[in-house]
Amino acid sequence: MSQDTIFGRILRGEIPCDQVYADEHCLAFRDVTPQAPVHVLVIPRQPIAQLADATAGHEALLGHLLLVAVQVARQEGLESFRTVINSGADAGQTVFHLHVHVLGGRPLAWPPG
Ligand code: AMP
Repeated sequence: MSQDTIFGRILRGEIPCDQVYADEHCLAFRDVTPQAPVHVLVIPRQPIAQLADATAGHEALLGHLLLVAVQVARQEGLESFRTVINSGADAGQTVFHLHVHVLGGRPLAWPPG
């Protein structure tokens, strides 16, 4: 079902993205509405709608997504960065294809809104 999201369309090459990293398991591209000087999304090729739907079978994939997030942050020259995974509408998730936000390049306040 999440293949029918806009991220599914990006994965299928139906709409363009500003790609920064890709491998057999995931794709990373710049957020179209950046909230910081660096704002990249890391998404699995496998359609998982939200983090809450992940199971034990996704353990290696979830670890891979975080390691790719670190790699992207380094690639972008970030020493400090934040990773965010919104799971569910009340948490702010708007695209129901699991994604890791990688944000940096400015001081980031805490707690989030
Ligand atoms: P979330 O609110 O956690 O679901 O994050 C979804 C993110 O996807 C938002 O930050 C959007 O700006 C971003 N987004 C939506 N459509 C696109 C797109 N076509 N290319 C890049 N980023 C997108």
